[in-house]
Amino acid sequence: MAKYVYDFTEGNRNLKDLLGGKGANLAEMTNLGLPVPHGFTITTEACRHYLAEGSVPSGLDQEVAEHLEALEAKMGRKLGQADDPLLVSVRSGAKFSMPGMMETVLNIGLNDESVHGLAKQSGGNDRFAWDSYRRLIQMFGKTVLGIDGDLFERALDDLKGRRHDTDLDSGELQQLVETYKGIVRDQTGKDFPADPREQMRLAVMAVFDSWNAPRAILYRRQERIPADLGTAVNIMAMVFGNYGNDSGTGVAFTRDPGSGQQGIYGDYLQNAQGEDVVAGIRNTIPLQDLEHLDKPSYDQLVDIMETLENHYRDLCDIEFTIERGKLWMLQTRVGKRTAAAAFCIATQLVDQGLITMDEAVTRVTGDQLAQLMFPRFDGGADKKKIAKGMNASPGAAVGKAVFSSERAVELAGQGEDVILVRRETNPDDLAGMIAARGILTSRGGKTSHAAVVARGMGKTCVCGAEDLDVQTAERRFTAPGGVVVSEGDVISIDGTSGEVYLGEVPVVDSAVVEYFEGATEPQDDLVKAVDRIMRHADDKRRLGVRANADTPEDAARARRFGAQGIGLCRTEHMFLGERRQLVEDLVLASSDEERQAALDALEPLQKSDFIGIFQAMQGAPVTIRLIDPPLHEFLPDIVDLSVKVATGAATDKDRELLTAVKRLHEQNPMLGLRGVRLGLIIPGLFAMQVRAIAQAAAEVPGARPEIMIPLVAAVQELESVREEAVKILADAGVSALIGTMIEVPRAALTAAQIAEAAEFFSFGTNDLTQMAWGFSRDDVEAAFFSRYLDLGIFGVSPFETLDREGVGRLMEIAVREGRQARPDLHLGICGEHGGDPDSVHFCHDVGLDYVSCSPFRIPVARLEAGRAALTETDSDTR
Ligand code: ADP
Ligand code: MG
Ligand code: MG
Repeated sequence: MAKYVYDFTEGNRNLKDLLGGKGANLAEMTNLGLPVPHGFTITTEACRHYLAEGSVPSGLDQEVAEHLEALEAKMGRKLGQADDPLLVSVRSGAKFSMPGMMETVLNIGLNDESVHGLAKQSGGNDRFAWDSYRRLIQMFGKTVLGIDGDLFERALDDLKGRRHDTDLDSGELQQLVETYKGIVRDQTGKDFPADPREQMRLAVMAVFDSWNAPRAILYRRQERIPADLGTAVNIMAMVFGNYGNDSGTGVAFTRDPGSGQQGIYGDYLQNAQGEDVVAGIRNTIPLQDLEHLDKPSYDQLVDIMETLENHYRDLCDIEFTIERGKLWMLQTRVGKRTAAAAFCIATQLVDQGLITMDEAVTRVTGDQLAQLMFPRFDGGADKKKIAKGMNASPGAAVGKAVFSSERAVELAGQGEDVILVRRETNPDDLAGMIAARGILTSRGGKTSHAAVVARGMGKTCVCGAEDLDVQTAERRFTAPGGVVVSEGDVISIDGTSGEVYLGEVPVVDSAVVEYFEGATEPQDDLVKAVDRIMRHADDKRRLGVRANADTPEDAARARRFGAQGIGLCRTEHMFLGERRQLVEDLVLASSDEERQAALDALEPLQKSDFIGIFQAMQGAPVTIRLIDPPLHEFLPDIVDLSVKVATGAATDKDRELLTAVKRLHEQNPMLGLRGVRLGLIIPGLFAMQVRAIAQAAAEVPGARPEIMIPLVAAVQELESVREEAVKILADAGVSALIGTMIEVPRAALTAAQIAEAAEFFSFGTNDLTQMAWGFSRDDVEAAFFSRYLDLGIFGVSPFETLDREGVGRLMEIAVREGRQARPDLHLGICGEHGGDPDSVHFCHDVGLDYVSCSPFRIPVARLEAGRAALTETDSDTR
């Protein structure tokens, strides 16, 4: 029979799939002998069953009852027992951490009788007992009964006025409990459930249900967490940080999650429970100050932090509670960190002998590297600093201040850059946080909701800028010196320094980019760490990395960034600008002579283009794609021409052009006269390009051209182009590979034939995706992709991350059958996917020789290619 419940003593950290991260790590800490309250975990499997069937699996209730009995036996009291109640928390916990996205209920087991028992058992601490009871009704009411949490908040605010919650005495709290019970009765038509087991059962189902709360769905989509994992539920004995000033609750990191530096980082709040620390209801104290409040607990905590770091061999974050001088561990996990910290921590752990360089490479991601390449504020620029908060998540963000999540979404939807400004954020702000360029809060520390979520998303965040008075309702904030910033005013925030500026501050390149550019030797710790990891990734990767570059400048930058060649040099831009004129002549040519004259005029220009690129690439291969887009793209706009003709402003040439544009008009240009079809229909066009390549190569010593024919669907197309090209190359005494793009599904399916005429394949996955799905890329993304994402038809746009099942299968076929026909067939990819981390892993898995991507993505591709070689593709490595 299936086992749905595991005692903490039965689990371990490798069981995250089954027990969720929280449950697996609670078990791990229990096994390490750390002080964890007793408890047990209901598996994600039970949750999946519940979500699919609408009811818990049979046998679950029985199993839970048995584990509860065992827990009661260990604790020597029963759940909700009137004279001496055992209280429990019911906590969500999925495989991947989703901070604050799902539900947790504390103090389960209290009711009108057991509250007295709790008071008595605590030596007459009535205040504590009633505080716990009101917390239960509040949390239970909101999360289990679905009552608007503001109703409780307001009742609490009304009662305490300007005082802190800790200033309420037991009489007032008792009164608050009555008010809360009234709210429950009003809102649900029923009394607050007094039966402890019923409370527990309902809370478990509420946790299951919270997996599908809108904010959890949104978060999963953002973080690319699969939608079907479900959450585990942890039930554990309560410990109390709200006893009084000898108690409290806190969070800690074993290193600075912002920089990676070792030390004691965290926040502590006296006389408080659970969420209070991160919710910012009172100001926390720095964890170091706990040493003066309770030295034994502090020393023990520091010890445990060291134990955990050595055990997990990584930065850990921790939740703990001190109950009357006794320390309890409530949670740990490998903590989220900034991109910079990820690189620094990985190399520090190598130096400490805790991990190998191979592991270090797998501990960082291409996305993190990309973040480090973001620009930062120009140090020399004139800035008007108006406040300083915590540097919660690095980067430089500029945008219009907005004061609600809705407004952020709305303005961002209109293409505006916005900064979301809040007193503090809560999980309901998620949509606005995703939409904003950056997040600014006036309350909360580095462990606040805003900070944790922003770091996870790689979004710039400054939090706890206490000098700011955020007036959400008035949609403005004020800063010292009479500064008022209203909605729509531009501000700049620096997540690396924590500074906030009025107006727009100019941004400059990152130090990491400067390092890649070769301008600086690795100096600061971050750049040194990046350097070490990149070298190791380069050592380990099997995939080559090339660049998509069309100009000598791009080519040179690509080389500096580590490109081993050019995988896609488009020739179409070489027909723009002043040269449009020549293309017009080509299109309008009415005789072979006129056409040849236009081509002859283009040839030397093309040749000099190629010379520049060959020189920049210094002997590395350059794959040049012959002209691809339809020719009418180079002609003037049909509407402009029509207007000129209608108003009599047109020249003879304009009139001719209009006729040509009309003649060339296509209903589906992407499927029309373009690519190899142009080469076959317009005599001399491809020949001119091949001659220009051959002559340029002849002039640049060491040049290694590769000629790539686009949009081939049938080997016959390729054969006739190839024949002509081979002759031209031979005449010039130049050797070059001749190959094709694989971007039409038929080409992938007939790869064995095509390989007979091609020395290389380069997958053009933009077109291949477009044609495999039948999506017109320019139209569908804006038209309905967001709906498709909502419907779960795909988790991420197939134009962003390669669709392994469909497009990937076409690639697999082409790789396998192409190589069978020609064992030394050289294989690459040159679509946008070449710089996308997940797609790079796929390219490794499918056995390509290289990926090609835009110059700025080259470091990302190098790193991910190294990671692909060091790990099996596994979602756990994110
Ligand atoms: P989240 O996943 O949102 O952090 P948690 O399940 O960790 O939610 O719980 C919320 C808060 O309640 C945390 O601060 C946690 O430490 C605290 N908490 C959970 N269980 C207990 C318990 N048994 N005793 C005391 N505090 C608890
Ligand atoms: Mg937690
Ligand atoms: Mg294409």
